[in-house]
Amino acid sequence: MSIQLQSQWVLRWVVPACASLLVCGLLLLALVWAAGRTDEVAAVRQRDLVTLTVSKLKAGLAHDQESATVWDDAVKNTASGNLEWVEANLGSWMHSYFGHDAALVLRTDLSPLYQFLADAEYAPAPDDLKRAYLPLAIRLQARLAAGDTEGTNDRVLSIGESDLRYVGFRPAIVSVKPIVSDSGDIEQVPGKERIHVAVRFLDGDLPPIIGSEYAFDALKFSAKQPRGRDLAFVPLRAKDGQVFGYFRWRPFQPGKQVLNNTAPALLLAFVALFSGTSLAGGAFWRRSERLATSRAELKHQASHDVLTGLANRAHFGEQLDLRLRRAQADEQHCLLFVDLDRFKAVNDTFGHPVGDELIGMAAARMRALLPEALIARIGGDEFTILLHAGDARNAEELSDNLVRRLKVPFEVGASHITIGASVGAAHAAGASDPAELMRQADIALYHAKAAGRNTYAIFGGHMDEVLRKRRTLEDDLRSALENGSQLEVFYQPVFAADEGNLCSLEALARWKHPLIGYISPEEFIPLAEEIGLINDIGTLVLEDACKTLAEFPEISIAINASALELAAPGYPLRVLTALAKWQISPCRLEIEMTESATTGDGGELERTISMLRKAGVQFAIDDFGTGYSSFSRVQKIEVDRIKIDKSFIDEMHRNDSKALVVAMIDMARAKGLKITAEGVETTEQQSVLKSLGWHSLQGFLLSRPMPRPAVVALMLKIRQESSDAIAVLPSS
Ligand code: C2E
Ligand code: CA
Ligand code: CA
Repeated sequence: MSIQLQSQWVLRWVVPACASLLVCGLLLLALVWAAGRTDEVAAVRQRDLVTLTVSKLKAGLAHDQESATVWDDAVKNTASGNLEWVEANLGSWMHSYFGHDAALVLRTDLSPLYQFLADAEYAPAPDDLKRAYLPLAIRLQARLAAGDTEGTNDRVLSIGESDLRYVGFRPAIVSVKPIVSDSGDIEQVPGKERIHVAVRFLDGDLPPIIGSEYAFDALKFSAKQPRGRDLAFVPLRAKDGQVFGYFRWRPFQPGKQVLNNTAPALLLAFVALFSGTSLAGGAFWRRSERLATSRAELKHQASHDVLTGLANRAHFGEQLDLRLRRAQADEQHCLLFVDLDRFKAVNDTFGHPVGDELIGMAAARMRALLPEALIARIGGDEFTILLHAGDARNAEELSDNLVRRLKVPFEVGASHITIGASVGAAHAAGASDPAELMRQADIALYHAKAAGRNTYAIFGGHMDEVLRKRRTLEDDLRSALENGSQLEVFYQPVFAADEGNLCSLEALARWKHPLIGYISPEEFIPLAEEIGLINDIGTLVLEDACKTLAEFPEISIAINASALELAAPGYPLRVLTALAKWQISPCRLEIEMTESATTGDGGELERTISMLRKAGVQFAIDDFGTGYSSFSRVQKIEVDRIKIDKSFIDEMHRNDSKALVVAMIDMARAKGLKITAEGVETTEQQSVLKSLGWHSLQGFLLSRPMPRPAVVALMLKIRQESSDAIAVLPSS
């Protein structure tokens, strides 16, 4: 179970259950305690009541007797042996009126004169009855003889004895009273009085009667101590203090009753409390969940790129810093710099929504290949990847895979778009300096690009060596420009696509290094830009081009100018001055914006271009479709021509690349721009380009760039041929 689910479960069920259980448990505990206390008090009361009832029974039995024993008629009739009278007044009457179970009248010698038993079917052995009353009768006779009157008063008219006795096996209250004169007119010898015995059994109808009178449930006599948790009992003691037996009953427990009655209510309260707290817990969980989610979203937004969902530059920097500084000594790191090739062309040709979708797809491919790595988008089409320790060992293979994957065409809408990528990788082990690792990866990327793009390079010590060489080269370039001898201008002819006539020349700078030989402008132009010498080179080429233009008025020449040069405040004046100096019409000069330097989209460049265009100078966007040349520039800056980069011409045999080229032509046509293809190397390319309606073609197939003397010779030859043709024409 996930932590999230667990905490939801806890908040929704466990906490409410615990809280409800606690509250209801405490309530129940209090109730149980109170009920227990109530039942205890009730039990003591009930026991006292039973004890009191028994003693009242004893007294009551004696009292009943006196209604007939303290009576002159009774003395007389017992003395005369009138059993009929005795039966009527001292026997059955006692039963019918008071409910006594047995009655006897004893003679002076304590032998029974008369005996009555209420239950006709019950016949105790004579000795059983005798054993029950004899000790009491003997004691009474002794007390009578002694003249003892203790216990007599207004209500108790004669002394008596009573006790709890067994008649055979039956427990009973037995009471004896003397039969005495009520008027005092009959003389009697103390101790010689007849004696009346009354018996009330405790195991017959008496307990139910007491039970119903005092609300004791199932009151019964028991000879042995009752067992059972739901029974209350009280011992009955005879006069000698011995336990005679027990009265037991089902106790009335008001507390327990209250508890039983409140149990459903308590259960209801538990359910209500549980549902309430569970709902509250659920609401609380959802709220905190929402809070946590939005907090996480905010955090994610702050540290991630919206388009790709990858980390952003700041987040990547933080993570890189953190991981490199905390790394174990033997931990491997590898940092990759990835740069998408030709992405700008896609953006400008198909529009930003397609570009965005493509970036998203490229990011997804990288993520799929490196699911564990930290990947960031740090610029429009630039990515950085920090491989985790395991992948770092396979950096070379992974970089190669990355290049291959990104080379596979992307399907965006109906189009198949091919881009590509250059990858630079740098390794480190243990705690290392992030800035140094970034620098190394950047150098490696530079090498990958220099090696022709669509490839990868791993940083090595030799690259630093390359850097060192570059510094030397910078110094050499400085001194070359001071001397002015090593730099030359070559010219490459450009031909009309349809008829194949030479229509213009492109001036290309060359550096003839005294030790190295010819160095490509692709190498020394960026160097010159970096060290601020580009204007000097530009001036040199411009000067040479003007000289050539002056020599051959029938052609136009294109010069290359980096954005950096164009943005310099004195540039338009410099160009116009050179043109004026050589008396050349500005429309014969075309300036190709090579865009090899990063352009700030400052207004200076636009002002320069519009000023020169007003004067008649033509403008072209060079290397169209790569790097910084872009459709957006075409939209913003008015130009006259676009030159499609060689890489597109190379790839034109592929359907997806051809689609891009066709889109470029359509765009150029729509804008009324002239269009030139660069780097035409094969006749196939030439015929395809022709069929597509191209204006002009340039490439090794038609002519290589050549030094000034060679191009002068060529021009003179062409001039000669055309004048020959003109000379032939009239006669034909
Ligand atoms: P670019 O302006 O695109 O010039 C065309 C480049 O393609 C030239 O390389 C040319 O020799 C080469 N090229 C022409 N046709 C073919 C072909 O069929 N196959 C192949 N493989 N290459 C062909 P180059 O002269 O080495 O110039 C390289 C780049 O240096 C130029 O590219 C331009 O961007 C820059 N550059 C040259 N001269 C100057 C300059 O005076 N000023 C500035 N700012 N940049 C210059
Ligand atoms: Ca060019
Ligand atoms: Ca070019």
